[in-house]
Amino acid sequence: MRVNITLACTECSERNYSTVKNKRNNPERLEMKKYCSRERKMTVHRETK
Ligand SMILES: [Zn+2]
Repeated sequence: MRVNITLACTECSERNYSTVKNKRNNPERLEMKKYCSRERKMTVHRETK
């Protein structure tokens, strides 16, 4: 049930992180606050393919 996902910044679309999630625990799109290296600040990052 573990799938590889990419987390992209919702403000500049930079793909800053890749991780794995458990599809059973998180069936919907993941969103988390992360540091964006392009903007040099904390932004919301969302799962993308
Ligand atoms: Zn950004």
